[in-house]
Amino acid sequence: MVDITIIGAGITGSLIAHNLSKFNLKVLVLERESDVAEGSTGANSAMIHSGHDPKPGTLKCRYNLLGNRMFPDLCKELQVAYLPIGAYVAAVGEDEEATLDKLISQCEERDVPYEVLSGDEARKIEPNLSDGVTKVLSLPTTGIISPWEVTIAALEEAMLNGVELKLNYEVKSIRKENDHFLINEEIETKVLINCAGAHCDEITSMLRESPYKVIARRGEYFVLDHLNGTFVKHVIYPVPGVMGKGVLAVPTVHGNVLLGPNAEDSEDRDDDSTGKGLDFIKTQITKTVKNIPYNKMIHTFAGLRPHIDLNDFYIQEDDQIENFIHVAGIESPGLTSAPAIAKDVVEGIVMPKFIDCKVKEEYIRRKPFINMTEMSDEEINKLIEKDPDFGLLICRCEKVSKGQIKDVINRKCGATTVKGVKMRCRPGMGRCQGGFCEPEVVKILSHELNKKINEIELDAKGSYIYMADAKEDL
Ligand SMILES: Cc1cc2nc3c(=O)[nH]c(=O)nc-3n(C[C@H](O)[C@H](O)[C@H](O)COP(=O)(O)OP(=O)(O)OC[C@H]3O[C@@H](n4cnc5c(N)ncnc54)[C@H](O)[C@@H]3O)c2cc1C
Repeated sequence: MVDITIIGAGITGSLIAHNLSKFNLKVLVLERESDVAEGSTGANSAMIHSGHDPKPGTLKCRYNLLGNRMFPDLCKELQVAYLPIGAYVAAVGEDEEATLDKLISQCEERDVPYEVLSGDEARKIEPNLSDGVTKVLSLPTTGIISPWEVTIAALEEAMLNGVELKLNYEVKSIRKENDHFLINEEIETKVLINCAGAHCDEITSMLRESPYKVIARRGEYFVLDHLNGTFVKHVIYPVPGVMGKGVLAVPTVHGNVLLGPNAEDSEDRDDDSTGKGLDFIKTQITKTVKNIPYNKMIHTFAGLRPHIDLNDFYIQEDDQIENFIHVAGIESPGLTSAPAIAKDVVEGIVMPKFIDCKVKEEYIRRKPFINMTEMSDEEINKLIEKDPDFGLLICRCEKVSKGQIKDVINRKCGATTVKGVKMRCRPGMGRCQGGFCEPEVVKILSHELNKKINEIELDAKGSYIYMADAKEDL
């Protein structure tokens, strides 16, 4: 019998699993896709919001503030990137300045550090801020991360310490039997945690009428090539509106810039196509930034916010079914909030059910992903001496070697698809978008996983089998 089963390997499920891996418990994570971070966690603005914005008194507000303070240490612990680049909220004209003043009061009340700048003062630091911007709220505790790196690292470390992850495992039925749950008529678990993102109400409906309903809200983005701070150095927000934080310009931890998102309700909870929203982004973004280098545009993508009709996070043990825990409605600022949500769920709800359980005496730390772009020549030469594959460059745009690709495939929570490799060490993220390196990545996956080339999947949906009649010339 499993002690605790978590449904969903996004950032919330993974950080809960990571916290639980510190105890002597049997923990299982079930994920319907063939990789982790495939829901909202894989497609968002990747920002650690300061907490200036959520409505007072909400769980979103509480967890945003707590999560923002936890993120730097969490990223240090998991050995992944966290960059405290700060943000500017840019107001245009008197009406928006009044909204900015409300945000300033909220910063005061919440102890969120801030500074107020005139438009001209801000333009001296951010020359590409639009000429119409009249007043700016600077938020230095805003940060950026790589959401999938945090998720993968958390699960990798959880697995090194005994947590089991089942991929390609869709939960289709749940029954409560005496003191345990029976999942898909085969897995028995004492405690069940629902972290299923845009599908959390479907999971709940397997046990009872759901107290919430998901309304998936799509957000689209442009990705600009490496600009490394030459376009914007801070995250640039407009003042918030009814549909959220508005269209942003966001530097990424890898030196790219994201422009987006829009917010559009979607009937299909898994439809991550892009289209109409991109035109909207183009018109909205000019309000806050100018001189946008669209000639550096290399990619577009979309993510779906798991908004629920209660308009707040829903995090609690079910009021009718003991040991069934909801972690639902985790839309923005869900990424920021995830470490604090995980802590509260584990310490406040789960562990009181296992009062005799002890913390593990020995805990294994993961090793960071190998990033050769940040290494000295001496360090690179040492790596190549150990394994010459570190000297074989596979992705020229992002400078990724064969050795790095082998490393991310052969770890716990390792990559099994072309996209999985791309999310872990970046071949295909650059300006050729995999045009040159993808066939090589397929060959390496085929070799390391001992699969035929035509069995290698492009992404976690398994929708596309690569090079069906290719020669296996390894
Ligand atoms: C456009 C956009 C921008 C955003 N920007 C930010 C931001 O900058 N900062 C911020 O703090 N937050 C942001 N967010 C919110 C943040 O991305 C989410 O709150 C967070 O990723 C939610 O994580 P999760 O683990 O709860 O859900 P998800 O990441 O969606 O994970 C749920 C998982 O459950 C799995 N699953 C579903 N059904 C089943 C089933 N039946 N069986 C097994 N597995 C199942 C799914 O495949 C998925 O992997 C943004 C969201 C979007 C969409």
